[in-house]
Amino acid sequence: RNARLYGTIEQLAVTDELTGLFNRRGFFQLGEREFEGSLRFNRPLAALMFDIDHFKRVNDTRGHPAGDQVLRLLADCFRQNTRGIDVAGRYGGEEFALLMPETLLPGAVQIAERLRQSVAGLSIPICPVNGDSSTVDIHITVSIGVAALLPDVPSLAVLLERTDQALYRAKTSGRNRVVVWEKSAPCMP
Ligand code: GH3
Ligand code: MG
Ligand code: MG
Repeated sequence: RNARLYGTIEQLAVTDELTGLFNRRGFFQLGEREFEGSLRFNRPLAALMFDIDHFKRVNDTRGHPAGDQVLRLLADCFRQNTRGIDVAGRYGGEEFALLMPETLLPGAVQIAERLRQSVAGLSIPICPVNGDSSTVDIHITVSIGVAALLPDVPSLAVLLERTDQALYRAKTSGRNRVVVWEKSAPCMP
């Protein structure tokens, strides 16, 4: 019984309660293993990070429970667009990360683009907070940053840092898009 209980606690410690995806800790636990394996066997690996566009507006205009509903539906969409070997996690509040073993950059971009389009095509029914029985459908978009394992990537943290940099560029260049990490121009002395 103790072993079972321990297993349940272990599971809870790595699972995000709201979405059922790995939490940050779980994502890193499994992700580190994938990363090490890819390095050792010289196999491709890619990652993406996505962040909901203007999510604060959803919370502000529809309420926090509606925001939670959106996050849950988005997690379902995320799961539907990934493969069994992928590691999917809720990285932060409204940020999700995906680690894609055996995937080269073009494949990762394809997955990211498919994911972006699936999210943009969702009609998310939201129950109004005021007790009104009719629901309203809302639409959201996501911005996605993609990066692949290169010889100068020493750790999973650095790979994810690159997806984050690309995500930032996706945001500043207009949102609802996929951007691939690129080495930024070196600073002039
Ligand atoms: P941007 O397009 O630049 O990403 O704009 P944004 O509004 O999405 O970005 P910002 O970081 O300003 O807001 C993120 C929001 O996500 C704020 C926070 O209230 C919301 N959020 C984070 N975690 C949760 C959660 O678990 N539930 C709900 N409902 N909202 C959350
Ligand atoms: Mg954010
Ligand atoms: Mg956001």
